[in-house]
Amino acid sequence: MTAKIIDGKNVAQAVRLDCKRRVESLEKRYGRAPGLAVVMVGDNPASTVYVRNKIRACHDVGIRSERIMFPATVGEDEVVRTIAGLCANPVVDGILVQLPLPKSFSIERVLGAIDAEKDVDGFHLYNVGGLVVGNTVFPPCTPYGVMKLLEHEGIEVAGKNAVVVGASNIVGKPMALMLMQREATVSICHARTTDLAQYTILADVLVVAAGHPNLILGPMVKSGAVVIDVGINRLANGKLVGDCDFEGVSKRASFLTPVPGGVGPMTVTMLLVNTVNSAERALSRAASSMVSASV
Ligand code: NAD
Repeated sequence: MTAKIIDGKNVAQAVRLDCKRRVESLEKRYGRAPGLAVVMVGDNPASTVYVRNKIRACHDVGIRSERIMFPATVGEDEVVRTIAGLCANPVVDGILVQLPLPKSFSIERVLGAIDAEKDVDGFHLYNVGGLVVGNTVFPPCTPYGVMKLLEHEGIEVAGKNAVVVGASNIVGKPMALMLMQREATVSICHARTTDLAQYTILADVLVVAAGHPNLILGPMVKSGAVVIDVGINRLANGKLVGDCDFEGVSKRASFLTPVPGGVGPMTVTMLLVNTVNSAERALSRAASSMVSASV
């Protein structure tokens, strides 16, 4: 079997085009575009690139964005105060705090300061809890992007064995919850899992997000499985690869995402979707409360 390679760039482009249309229709109807505020502390080079990409993606679909950069020496209280100001600002629909934060910061306190209604990264405890009960306001962008790719390819997960390799708060755990919500039977593997292959070989849908090149080899994959490689690893020769041995896995799987060009383009795209969703909700709520106030 040779896997169909899922073109994440193509899917992302289609979703972004839809965002652009929705932004235009909001501007026409309510006179303003959605707004996203990105808060960054320090000058981590990778974070700088991620923030730049997010700002550029916003610009491309017509979302207004604001970048608030603090030096690494800033106090946590000042960052929390700034977030409170953004929460109160009616033209800010989404607030994102770029991680990592300085080690001395309490991530829980900073992320908890974001109004759950503007938490477009989906990391606020309210949204995490919403995922558990299957009713989240903002699904976290990377697993949300994976679900979008599966949906786009017409891959039904209900009743399937899904295995998620990686159990982080931002990828693995929410991924598992989303697959479970769609009625897959889900196993979660992590660094302490003994004999990873005994799980992966049973997977009809295998999502890998561990951050280790060549963690998943062809013989570890069930013939015909759908394999989504979330991992991003830079090799010593500068090449970007995922967590799967692409050649080996592509001979076993029915579908496979490449790295780069698979899940990566979907992550920023789903941030745009969450921001547009937030603006649509806020603007229609404001409009209906004006109507009821005038009656
Ligand atoms: P993380 O380091 O927070 O978590 C990694 C998880 O993988 C942990 O649960 C760990 O227990 C597990 N793990 C590590 N080694 C393992 C092994 N040998 N076997 C099984 N499980 C193992 O990382 P993260 O933030 O979840 O990211 C995971 C990967 O996904 C990274 O490569 C990251 O760069 C990538 N990523 C990609 C996107 C994207 O948009 N494509 C977004 C976020 C993260």
